[in-house]
Amino acid sequence: RAKREGKCCYHFFEPALDEQARQRRQMELDLRRAISEGEFELYFQPLYSLSEERLKGFEALIRWNHPTKGMVSPNDFIPLAEETGLILPIGEWVVREACHQASRWEDGLSVAVNISPKQFTSPDLVTKILNAIAASGIGANRLELEITESIFIAQVDKTMAILHQLRALGVRIALDDFGTGYSSLSYLRSFPFDKVKIDRSFVTDLATGENGHAIIRAITTLAEALGMETLAEGVEDEQQLEILRREGCRSIQGFLLSRPMSASQVLAWAEKEQDLAIVG
Ligand code: C2E
Ligand code: MG
Ligand code: MG
Ligand code: MG
Repeated sequence: RAKREGKCCYHFFEPALDEQARQRRQMELDLRRAISEGEFELYFQPLYSLSEERLKGFEALIRWNHPTKGMVSPNDFIPLAEETGLILPIGEWVVREACHQASRWEDGLSVAVNISPKQFTSPDLVTKILNAIAASGIGANRLELEITESIFIAQVDKTMAILHQLRALGVRIALDDFGTGYSSLSYLRSFPFDKVKIDRSFVTDLATGENGHAIIRAITTLAEALGMETLAEGVEDEQQLEILRREGCRSIQGFLLSRPMSASQVLAWAEKEQDLAIVG
């Protein structure tokens, strides 16, 4: 390290960078082990239709049962998994496991799976999804894929072609985190999504001012006109629920109904769903 002392401006930053790079390498090794040892688990959060007053299905949300760190959130490892390409084997497991769990549910319930942009660059995404559906025995229309606008940044034509192939299988496509990107509206024009998921940030803001209502109303009106359903993410209280209902939002998801839960909790939850206070 002595050599570095003489070079002005470098030595303040390098140790931090070294440490960052080291942590990254360690996490990549950890992720590889997690894949081979099966340390991932899917949690499920209810998707509830206000218009039909019924449970429609669940979104599958990955969790990492790390041997020393405990439960690791996807926000803390999905970005690295994407950078390293490890999202491909992880994503393949997610789709298979999600379809498998859905096969244990009542026939009318669907499962939503998040697909990251990197997965769209893999030539066999469509085959993998088809195989997962076939292995589980569920109908393709019970699988919904959630994508974000970021998949359109690279290779627009190829991405569109894949989306159309997936749609042809009978799978549903939802646009996740709607409204957070740079040009959200233009993407609604480019593909006939089945559903638009209004980002949680718009729901959080609802109680604080009138503009929030107007934005929700504008999104739901536009989406309906284009033949797309709307779902609001991150609904945490009754006040938000009432506003969303009034402004024409079709479905909701959020802590108000339930936090994401393990596969074994889902079955029990769905059974007593009829008693939900929200149905009223
Ligand atoms: P997302 O797809 O937008 O999922 C919704 C996130 O919001 C979940 O966080 C969920 O737990 C959280 N959430 C739901 N309701 C509420 C609420 O009422 N209040 C608050 N504060 N939060 C709520 P989670 O499970 O930590 O997942 C974060 C993100 O990680 C997901 O955002 C998704 O982009 C990504 N992700 C999760 N699972 C997978 C996966 O299997 N594959 C890929 N590629 N990405 C995944
Ligand atoms: Mg999602
Ligand atoms: Mg979302
Ligand atoms: Mg979101």
